[in-house]
Amino acid sequence: MTNPSLLILPGDGIGPEVMAEVRKIIDWFGTKRGLAFDVSEDLVGGVAYDAHGTPLHDDTMARAHAADAVLLGAVGGPKYDALDFSVKPERGLLRLRKEMDLFSNLRPAQCFDALADFSSLKKDVVAGLDIMIVRELTSGVYFGEPRGIFEEGNERVGINTQRYTESEIARVAKSAFELAMRRGKKLCSMEKANVMESGILWREVVTEIGREYPEVELSHMYADAGAMQLTRWPKQFDVIVTDNLFGDLLSDLAAMLTGSLGMLPSASLGAPMANGRPKALYEPVHGSAPDIAGQGKANPIACILSFAMALRYSFDHGQEAARLEAAIERVLADGVRTADLMGPDDGTPVSTSEMGDAILAA
Ligand code: ATP
Ligand code: MG
Repeated sequence: MTNPSLLILPGDGIGPEVMAEVRKIIDWFGTKRGLAFDVSEDLVGGVAYDAHGTPLHDDTMARAHAADAVLLGAVGGPKYDALDFSVKPERGLLRLRKEMDLFSNLRPAQCFDALADFSSLKKDVVAGLDIMIVRELTSGVYFGEPRGIFEEGNERVGINTQRYTESEIARVAKSAFELAMRRGKKLCSMEKANVMESGILWREVVTEIGREYPEVELSHMYADAGAMQLTRWPKQFDVIVTDNLFGDLLSDLAAMLTGSLGMLPSASLGAPMANGRPKALYEPVHGSAPDIAGQGKANPIACILSFAMALRYSFDHGQEAARLEAAIERVLADGVRTADLMGPDDGTPVSTSEMGDAILAA
């Protein structure tokens, strides 16, 4: 049997620094747990532009299609700000998402107990929080036609169109129900069916798909009420599914319930491959953080948790993912902190590699 394959794209800024810690952890799983992956590494973003004049080489795109999962660090940086739009580092990431057709964006909001004080909300509101937002990523108002700024009479009008087909709603709904089946069997769908036709269709199609998942308790909520409920008592939710625009806002809101950008992983999933698992790209939510790049200050946990998501959703090693998350929990409980997890008077932070080593030791 061949080993599952993982393509690693460290990218720019702190991307390579945090990815170095993930590599240590992948090696540990290989030697200590007998989980061997065929790991290969390639360029994306600014470093790919420097080497090839394009932020994503066709060969890299082909390797991404062939891999069981892709793990990406971050792209971009001030060095590339003046580049033409067509070769900007971010375009490399957009091409990956588009050509792999990654329509389902998973953003967990998970609060490690040791960091509950770090949230802007009351401790009992966030302690033990573990929810997942599924955002539709390839359609909706960011892509609908017509779009543009047009002349109308004697003034200009800016137009974007919210447009969803039944099949676009159905596929992201399915991925959310599948996820709910693996978690707390509770799904809340959010739209604005009270004022939007696409919201009415969204509610109908999600309800229809729900009949295939009788074990999942399905509820519906208007997205504005959902935002209120997310900040009031987020633990009432397990999985939330919503469209591209509302998901953009709600996933940022939910993420920040729990503290630092340095802690947040994500997954973007597409259609199932021959092995039954979805096409998948895993990446930390944070960017290339040029202000701290190259200084050993970056928190590697977001990228390590992204690998944990890969273990769970692409490689069917949920228990090993839980083992990794438990090690992170233990390290945080011991008070080990990178600078982003500390206040100004909280003592001395550890470096990126010290955090990685502490997690390995745990
Ligand atoms: P992008 O445009 O790529 O989303 P951004 O400028 O919005 O990038 P980041 O690059 O994520 O955002 O950085 C935002 C802030 O958070 C910066 O001050 C950065 O130093 C900090 N930050 C981001 N990621 C981390 C991390 N892993 N560890 C510590 N600090 C981080
Ligand atoms: Mg940003």
